[in-house]
Amino acid sequence: MRRYLYVSLVAAFAVIALKLGAWRLTGSVGFLSDALESLVNVVAAGFALLMVAIAGRPPDADHPYGHTKAEYFSSALEGLLIGFAALGIAAEAVHRLLAPHGVRAVPAGVALSVLASLINAGVARWMLSGAHRLRSIVLEADARHLLADVWTSAGVIVGVSLVPLTGWLWLDPVVGMVVAVHIVGEAWRLVARSVDGLMDRSLPASDIAEVDHVLQGFRSDDVRFDHVRTRRAGTRRFVSLHMHMPAHWSLGRAAHCRLRVERALTEHIAGLVATIEMLPQGEESLLDGGRPDKPGPPADCG
Ligand SMILES: [Zn+2]
Repeated sequence: MRRYLYVSLVAAFAVIALKLGAWRLTGSVGFLSDALESLVNVVAAGFALLMVAIAGRPPDADHPYGHTKAEYFSSALEGLLIGFAALGIAAEAVHRLLAPHGVRAVPAGVALSVLASLINAGVARWMLSGAHRLRSIVLEADARHLLADVWTSAGVIVGVSLVPLTGWLWLDPVVGMVVAVHIVGEAWRLVARSVDGLMDRSLPASDIAEVDHVLQGFRSDDVRFDHVRTRRAGTRRFVSLHMHMPAHWSLGRAAHCRLRVERALTEHIAGLVATIEMLPQGEESLLDGGRPDKPGPPADCG
């Protein structure tokens, strides 16, 4: 994980240097705003490294469920940074539409910018494959950010290249505006995913189907499951459920069956934390609709 983030940090510095070079050669404000967008990458990647270090800490007395949700702060912040960078590009585009001006030494500037984008695209693809393997939203956010950066550069390169060919000074800001709208969409998706994580959205349907498949193997006239809840926190996945068994079973027999279910769930779904509450048939916990005044023999819990 850290290897990916360190490489992205080094690549970002190289990309900024190339894009600033393109700006100095051409005097194009498009290339300058492109370089500023890459600067946001460096800030975001540094913050992501910090968050991954926090997320990787083992559970402690103050945080008994671990620190994995720290990842969501990083991806939410990154979404906001991308959004602001896009608004900056849009503002610059409007400014240039109102006060058009030409650019110089375009082929050399384009060459530098293309090289920078090739570096970004290569690093982004490598990081996306790593993100899927590690199930990391931080890594995915970083990779999507880099891809957004490639789109920005492509728009700027096309716009700046066509200006001297056509003499259309308005073309550059219009292309910049289209790219900015695309980036705002990327930013929105990142923020939405972070909100999902912080709001404990359930696991994807494929994971829930896998849980149900495992439980199916244990269902019988005696054993019934209900109140299945799932959530994720960073790379960790959680399921909690009720396991209803006949009231006359001994606690030892019920616990043995419960253990088999827990083991099957964690073997089938990597990284799953299963919390299984044992209940007799016909009884529910208060949380799940059980009646506090349910009639029955007086309980002797001593
Ligand atoms: Zn139940």
